[in-house]
Amino acid sequence: MAVSDHVDLDTFIKGVEKRNPGQEEFVQAVTEVAQDIYDFIEDKEEYHEAQILRRIAEPDRVVSFRVCWEDDNHNIRVQRGWRVQNNNAIGPYKGGIRFHPSVTESVLKFLAFEQTFKNSLTGLPMGGGKGGANFNPRGKSDAEVMRFCQSFITELYRHIGPDTDVPAGDIGVGAREIGYMFGQYKRITGRWEGVLTGKGMEYGGSQMRPEATGYGAVYFLENMLKHKDDSIDGKTAVISGSGNVATHAAEQIVKQGGKVLTMSDSGGFIHDEDGIDQEKIDWIKDLKNNQRGRISEYADEFSGASYHEGERPWGVACDLALPCATQNELNGDEAKTLVDNGVIAVSEGANMPTTLEGVHIFHDAKIMYGPGKAANAGGVAVSGLEMSQNAERISWNHERLGNMLTELMEGIHEKCVEYGDDGNGYVDYVKGANIAGFKKVADAMLAYGVV
Ligand code: NDP
Repeated sequence: MAVSDHVDLDTFIKGVEKRNPGQEEFVQAVTEVAQDIYDFIEDKEEYHEAQILRRIAEPDRVVSFRVCWEDDNHNIRVQRGWRVQNNNAIGPYKGGIRFHPSVTESVLKFLAFEQTFKNSLTGLPMGGGKGGANFNPRGKSDAEVMRFCQSFITELYRHIGPDTDVPAGDIGVGAREIGYMFGQYKRITGRWEGVLTGKGMEYGGSQMRPEATGYGAVYFLENMLKHKDDSIDGKTAVISGSGNVATHAAEQIVKQGGKVLTMSDSGGFIHDEDGIDQEKIDWIKDLKNNQRGRISEYADEFSGASYHEGERPWGVACDLALPCATQNELNGDEAKTLVDNGVIAVSEGANMPTTLEGVHIFHDAKIMYGPGKAANAGGVAVSGLEMSQNAERISWNHERLGNMLTELMEGIHEKCVEYGDDGNGYVDYVKGANIAGFKKVADAMLAYGVV
């Protein structure tokens, strides 16, 4: 008789805590997924016998390395870099690179774990990974960022490749950083190949990639509302963040007739009762280009807007909320405030922005809640399409990719409904996304035997 991992959920989570001491974010992400998976696999002994959940909660490997670089004043600086290759059961590892002082192994392990389910949900052949460094690009010159990126990739290049692991951008890593890293990879290996996504349009990047995550989060929101015969038109939206995801989410809300009231950064948030229209969004994009400006400057530029230093935007009454900055930026109290103020739907552009307590509050209030692993999957989906275009040496146009993104988000929404509908008209999108994402990866792992 095979040894089964048919232990109860609490015992399983205690084991995860014990094996990953001090890694709170990772334990939080595993706990959230395990709760749903446990119900689903309860009567499916094959998953227990093969220890699938235990195996999926253990990254294939974590690579950690030193990154030395020289700043403009000739000081030698030392940072730490990582690549977490979580699971490649259904395709090459795929996931972003984050440069931010808050990056730790735990944060990257949680992101790589989430990425595995998200990538599976897209229906494209991509495994899950994530990487980054505790480097802060803010305030650094272009030359410093270039030297850092070159040093980072000089170590990482040996672990990645178009059929092995294909990183992309994330917080602090945009087109500039991808350019420096791709250039260095090409220089070291002598090969032009689709090893990174989010590249510039001149050298293999995909149309729609910059817009994909933010637009996709709004398409997901649109699908949730449509499922209830409703739409974005005429509704107010509170958005956090002011980077790539947040500004494109704002743009798509405006395109669909909604009114955006807030945007933020790690310093605070701005509230504009007149609405942040396309012209103002373009101004913010310009301000934030290459990490330069602060959102506080918005209140000086546009009369009628107020700046709230050190605060988050969730106290502003709205119909729709889109957390698009970072993890754990919306806690239980803030979720309760949103619900008390009448929010009807939340769509996460960021990864795990809502704490577990906040998620429970949204579910108890039966509002539409689209978790990041489903709602923000548009970014990695178009990255997958960038890989296909690179492999075929072709490029598709904006319109074609726009249609593909819309269809992909519709497909993700459908899968969530398939596994998350409680039979009484309420869709638990977290459960739907977790089960649909898990099933494909788990079944591939079963097919491989014990590897
Ligand atoms: P950017 O670097 O372009 O922007 C990040 C934004 O979040 C900035 O406004 C930044 O403010 C703010 N922010 C970062 N850390 C904090 C913090 N600790 N507290 C408050 N605000 C903070 O990143 P993206 O827009 O690309 O990414 C945003 C989120 O979306 C992340 O969770 C990322 O993982 C997720 N995501 C991104 C994808 C993509 O395609 N880019 C794909 C899928 C998910 P400041 O400038 O002050 O740091």
